[in-house]
Amino acid sequence: MSDPNCIFCKIASKQIPSTLLYEDDLVVAFKDIAPQVPVHVLIVPKAHVSGLDGLREEHKALIGQITLVGQKLARDLGVAESGYRMVVNSGPDAGQTVFHLHFHLLGGAPMGGKMV
Ligand code: 5GP
Ligand code: ZN
Repeated sequence: MSDPNCIFCKIASKQIPSTLLYEDDLVVAFKDIAPQVPVHVLIVPKAHVSGLDGLREEHKALIGQITLVGQKLARDLGVAESGYRMVVNSGPDAGQTVFHLHFHLLGGAPMGGKMV
């Protein structure tokens, strides 16, 4: 399912261009438009899911796939050994700005203080 007003649905269906790094039946991964660190990739489901709070039982395989795609991209992009984070912001207190589920893959530089 796709939301006609959703920017990540448009990226996933290639109506809006992005630097696409990975694609399969379930997910796409593309470079963040405003990278916070040298490696900043967004991994998103092709189907519209609003965020962590929109997940249901039927999405179990999807979440597994997103995590494994993050691992693969970290290796391909050369940050698996130096280290990386996968981060999901959910809701206003976490600063979520795009309401289509996305995992940030971050790496390529020390990320300083730990939040958790
Ligand atoms: P959030 O703040 O919701 O966790 O993350 C949204 C992310 O999407 C931000 O890091 C922002 O830079 C990125 N972003 C927003 N619009 C676009 C876009 O049109 N293209 C790409 N590649 N990234 C985007
Ligand atoms: Zn969407």
